Amino acid sequence: MRRARATQLTVFIVLFNTGILLVPRLFPRGNADLRIVFLDVGQGDSCVIQTPSGKVIVVDTGNRSLNGQEDMGRRVVAPYLRSQGIQRIDLLLLTHPDTDHIGGADTLLQRFPVGILETNGQDEQAGQKEVVQRAKSREVLVHRAKAGEVMELGDGIKAHVIAPIGEDLNESTNTHSIVLRLTYGESSLLLTGDADNKEEERILQNGTLLPTQLLKVGHHGSRTSTTERFLTRIMPRIAVISVGKSNSFGHPAPATLERLQKQGVQVFRTDTQGAITCTSDSKNWMCKPYTRLPQ
Ligand SMILES: [Zn+2]
Repeated sequence: MRRARATQLTVFIVLFNTGILLVPRLFPRGNADLRIVFLDVGQGDSCVIQTPSGKVIVVDTGNRSLNGQEDMGRRVVAPYLRSQGIQRIDLLLLTHPDTDHIGGADTLLQRFPVGILETNGQDEQAGQKEVVQRAKSREVLVHRAKAGEVMELGDGIKAHVIAPIGEDLNESTNTHSIVLRLTYGESSLLLTGDADNKEEERILQNGTLLPTQLLKVGHHGSRTSTTERFLTRIMPRIAVISVGKSNSFGHPAPATLERLQKQGVQVFRTDTQGAITCTSDSKNWMCKPYTRLPQ
């Protein structure tokens, strides 16, 4: 006992003596909330997760036009990170290699140190191949997500990889989306990328998905995602749809909105409300839009 106490004291003194740099870590300024911001990147997905102890996870990076002029990494994600004083991305996760999800990734890799790049493994796809090359050239660890993996993010936060399930890297990119379930205490969050009904069915058959409070609706609210069966398993209280104003795909589909409404889910949308910020105190999520809808 005495020895243990002496060791603790020594550690404290050593930390104390190392000075100012360690003080913010010993006495964090923030609170104990887990925060996720669904950024308004138009038609596409990008969200930033900040853990209570300051870890930063970016899931998807918005779109990039063919000529590179419209780059949501440059226009939205990087400026947002800078505005929050974020200097480093611990985990950059790309759910699947579609341009409206990986478009800003190259910019982020050039502008921020990144700990790990996590992909769905379809790394030979156009666009993703270049992103993976950039990551490797900057000595970023590249990891392929597989169903069943669990990442410990500190503060008791766990990220369970629910999908992709199966090894077929040539299948549709949507069907091979990474689906991630985060838990923080009693609160939970499901990020679905552009998972379609085929992937949803696989997840249901796999039997690993538990009810989840906050849902990022799959594939921008497309008609062919968020089936009634899938929704009945998740039983979300709140749903966020990341979607562009007047997009040419007709997202979100009225049928999907109806299914959500039927289950009494509170829905937030980036096209009408801008960025959506959700915080969890480890029990419940509170979400608020950047702008309020007129009553
Ligand atoms: Zn998409």
